[in-house]
Amino acid sequence: MPIGVKVLDRPIEDVSYIRATIKGMGLTFKHLFADKVTVQYPEQKWGLSPRWRGTHRMLTTETGKAKCVACGLCPTVCPANCIKLIPGEDENGNRYPLVFEIDEFRCIFCGYCQEVCPEEAIHVGRHYENSEYSRAGFVYDLERLTSQTHPVCEMWDPEDPRGE
Ligand code: SF4
Ligand code: SF4
Repeated sequence: MPIGVKVLDRPIEDVSYIRATIKGMGLTFKHLFADKVTVQYPEQKWGLSPRWRGTHRMLTTETGKAKCVACGLCPTVCPANCIKLIPGEDENGNRYPLVFEIDEFRCIFCGYCQEVCPEEAIHVGRHYENSEYSRAGFVYDLERLTSQTHPVCEMWDPEDPRGE
């Protein structure tokens, strides 16, 4: 059985490499004269959105204790499985975290932990300068989480969906 060949009629202006090259060069030249956006980091920094989700913070009570009551919600919802919680209980039956760690390297900064926390204890924060020399340095324990001082991320507000 003979094989039929369908010849497509493509106008030269649609397949010309010269046209595409000129268009690409035009775009390049346009950017030569556009405002420059290079920032001289770290002397200069971009302002972060109020809803920026970065390095975590654990908030504390007036007495300096972590507000976490070890309910277990945040490690349950965490899609990256990067929160380690070992709960403890004092003589009055109050729960508290014996161990609370977040692997900032594994975290995808979705903000779920902040959203589910019934005590508003754990927050993602408006902070991103957390480079380390070793992977282990990214595992933040309770002491390190409570000692963070940067501002925390604002929750999404349906009344102001674009955060303006
Ligand atoms: S921000 Fe998301 S991925 Fe990171 S610790 Fe919280 S729940 Fe897990
Ligand atoms: S959701 Fe909040 S209170 Fe519950 S374990 Fe996580 S940080 Fe602690």
